[in-house]
Amino acid sequence: MSLMRLAYASEATFEAKSVEKGVEPHVARILMTSRRNNGKCQLVGGLYYGDNRFFQYLEGEEKDVLETYQRIQKDSRHKNLITLIEEPLEARTFENWSMKYVPLSRDVRRFLDDHGLDRFDPASFSSGQCEEMIELIRNSSQDQKLVNYDEAKTIEKRPNAFSVGQRTGLIVAALCLVGALFAAGSML
Ligand code: FAD
Repeated sequence: MSLMRLAYASEATFEAKSVEKGVEPHVARILMTSRRNNGKCQLVGGLYYGDNRFFQYLEGEEKDVLETYQRIQKDSRHKNLITLIEEPLEARTFENWSMKYVPLSRDVRRFLDDHGLDRFDPASFSSGQCEEMIELIRNSSQDQKLVNYDEAKTIEKRPNAFSVGQRTGLIVAALCLVGALFAAGSML
């Protein structure tokens, strides 16, 4: 079995929804599928999304990386894919991350400033810049909980186990029961 690593850049085809908190909903869906699938074959890596661009890094068994990349290339949620790194790997460099997500964070902004870049355009990154991006993913302490509109709606819609009326009824019944036990106790 041989290991390999792969990185590519692409442009999102969807119109990004603005989110105050959490992850853009299209990206959140991509991450959920990625984490589910990648976890099954111990594929690890990270995904950057910002300025409507993606930068993704994958490492794992050669067969798994290539199969996944074939699926990714067919996905209509992005276009103009450019393979930036595709090479054998001696040993794994990521642990436990089926797909780590990093938004256009302060670290990435600093990286862009350091290189005099005014926007996130990974397709034009040099190999050294790609390595720096991968290192940023590796060191990122980004909270990985996915919060998005869909998830929030699901939480809002989830019915309570008991309505307010039912809860009041249950409390009254419990109080009556305690009262009855007291009364029974005092009669003995
Ligand atoms: P399914 O369970 O069949 O579908 C997954 C979900 O994605 C479903 O909700 C489906 O409706 C939705 N979906 C699929 N295609 C589209 C589309 N074109 N437009 C809108 N919704 C769609 N997959 C991985 O397994 N690992 C990765 O690391 C990975 N990285 C990705 C990175 C990017 C930037 C993008 C755009 C996609 C990535 N994907 C990744 C997703 C990949 O392209 C396939 O959609 C996915 O692998 C299909 O897996 P599945 O058959 O289990 O998905």
